[in-house]
Amino acid sequence: MTLMALRNLALALLVSLLNACAGVAQGFSFSELDDTVWQPCAGEGSVCSFEGQRLIRYGVHSQWVYAVATATIACVNSEFGDPAPGLRKSCDLGRVTSRTLEGQRIGVLPIFYVFRDASEALVGSEDDRNMLRRYLGNAQRHFAELLGPQVQSFNFAEAMVHRGRFSQDDIGRFSATTPETAIDFEHAVVKELLEVRGTSRLSETHVFLFIFVRKNPLDFSPRRFAGGRSFNGGINGGGGVIVMEYAEIRLGAYGILAHELGHAFGLRHSDCLGYDMQQSDSIMSYNPRHRAKGFDRGPTPASLSHQERISLLLNRRVFPNAFDPGELQQRSNTCVLPAMHRSIGDIPVVRGVGYDLWVNGRPISGPEAIFFTRAQAIEHCDLMRRRYPSVPMECRFAGSLLPQPP
Ligand SMILES: [Zn+2]
Repeated sequence: MTLMALRNLALALLVSLLNACAGVAQGFSFSELDDTVWQPCAGEGSVCSFEGQRLIRYGVHSQWVYAVATATIACVNSEFGDPAPGLRKSCDLGRVTSRTLEGQRIGVLPIFYVFRDASEALVGSEDDRNMLRRYLGNAQRHFAELLGPQVQSFNFAEAMVHRGRFSQDDIGRFSATTPETAIDFEHAVVKELLEVRGTSRLSETHVFLFIFVRKNPLDFSPRRFAGGRSFNGGINGGGGVIVMEYAEIRLGAYGILAHELGHAFGLRHSDCLGYDMQQSDSIMSYNPRHRAKGFDRGPTPASLSHQERISLLLNRRVFPNAFDPGELQQRSNTCVLPAMHRSIGDIPVVRGVGYDLWVNGRPISGPEAIFFTRAQAIEHCDLMRRRYPSVPMECRFAGSLLPQPP
């Protein structure tokens, strides 16, 4: 490194420190919704005007819809949707912000979940903790190699032991119907841990890696757990959950862990992208060649497809990097997981950050649309226009109109 480069680096560090002190607008974070001091701006039917780009809320009492807007916004249902039908609403002005989704770094938190009827003495030894460090250290290096030197791999915390609220008999009370609406046992334990930690699906900064510890270690009834998904779906949506069995992970289950980490970071199976689940080289396939049974990758480790790599690069709270997010947004695809059910908590509606769809002059896109990429927004908008050709529609991404097809 030359002297000039060193000086530039020092300057860059200084500037970033100054920015942090001066409270310069960072990306939009859900914590702003709680931390912000709100000032009354305009009543329903009026226009709220301000300088720069600000967070606005519209509603009454505790029923709010949020938006990021520049210079001005009309305080009407046709701009925000109606968070409190029949009640008189108003707009409040919040802090300076940007339209980019950001937040604290997300890491993996291993949790030995000891069922209520099992003994805590079974787990949590130094041996167990070393096992988790070894697994996650290997996976961390694996993802680092697949994502390249410009990317920081995910980080992970020390394992914790948690005495569960549920016994093994409780599992059957939660049943999955469809993947989108299921309130399965995974939802129940995510809810439990969010309550214990005093966090929410939006403020939690970890992927929970549950390792279930049973009274009888080899009794996997009524089902054997091996799965993963993100809390809020989409790309860069925050934390997630992985469920695995202690007895299995003790014997070596690296292939399962690597695959479920991919799900927890938001990826779908590789057949979504048109690859064969048995033949694909991707970590998101079921290819038996790289389902390593040990604690490390094995002789034929899984890789990532180009599209999966782009999705992970966009998940910047997990994998910080300096790639151009705007350019990646264009090249992303819709092969990302949906959000978990609202039984683990609501996601507020925030307009002007991700995707917004207006139909007949009313905004109808739901809270999950904030996690759409630009490419997903264009694809969804085109689909809706083809399906309902005579209905007037307007599609925006990050506050700007998306191009109309010719
Ligand atoms: Zn899977």
